[in-house]
Amino acid sequence: MNPEAPLGMFGGTFDPVHHGHLRTALEVLEACRLAELRLVPASVPPHRPQPQAPARLRLEMLRRAVAGEPRLVVDDCELRRAGPSYTVDTLAGLRAQAGGRPLCLVLGADAFLGLPGWHRWPEILQLAHLVVVQRPGSRLAPGDELAAALAGRYCANPAELAQAAAGRVLVCEVTQLDISASAIRRLVAGGGDPRYLVPDAVRGLIAESGCYRMTDGCKEE
Ligand code: ATP
Repeated sequence: MNPEAPLGMFGGTFDPVHHGHLRTALEVLEACRLAELRLVPASVPPHRPQPQAPARLRLEMLRRAVAGEPRLVVDDCELRRAGPSYTVDTLAGLRAQAGGRPLCLVLGADAFLGLPGWHRWPEILQLAHLVVVQRPGSRLAPGDELAAALAGRYCANPAELAQAAAGRVLVCEVTQLDISASAIRRLVAGGGDPRYLVPDAVRGLIAESGCYRMTDGCKEE
């Protein structure tokens, strides 16, 4: 691993992980020359409804999805922590591991626009850079509070992320894939097949577990 290259974090519920996440992760990793990108499934997401699939299954789907790509690393730190999965706490943990090395928090447009609702969100900019990716159907138009906090922080060149430990914002262009986990859950609940929306290994786990077929959620084993 290149000791100077930034470390990345991409959090989410991954309920389930899909090709929209995976292609985005890979393109950001390469465009920003990250040493590695940690995919961090949330245990108890504070800002949205609770996941349908149990944590163990979401973790296993992620692990199988990235098998064979060593630069995409599944990190279960939020699943091992009690209570709400606050990104600021996860980044503080990563910062303790990374020392002064640059850290990048990857956010889809929807997550980015919701940032001012996050726990201790201004601290996030002290801990990491933001790498924001466009999603089909979302416009990158931050509200006044977010725009004010980010003024002067934008950079155009990914190389600038390696020159500071935190605090910069990069908008990174990625292939636009109009795939969402909620649409996949609806598809499976209606008896549909998520083939080609998710990796085959994830499709297999969805079918085996019967998870998203149950309308009242999936039970922990
Ligand atoms: P749901 O439909 O249940 O809200 P989701 O598909 O948005 O799920 P999450 O696990 O909530 O997936 O998202 C984790 C992160 O991945 C967020 O930052 C989100 O913006 C981003 N993301 C999700 N889908 C895509 C996509 N198709 N393209 C780019 N980014 C995405």
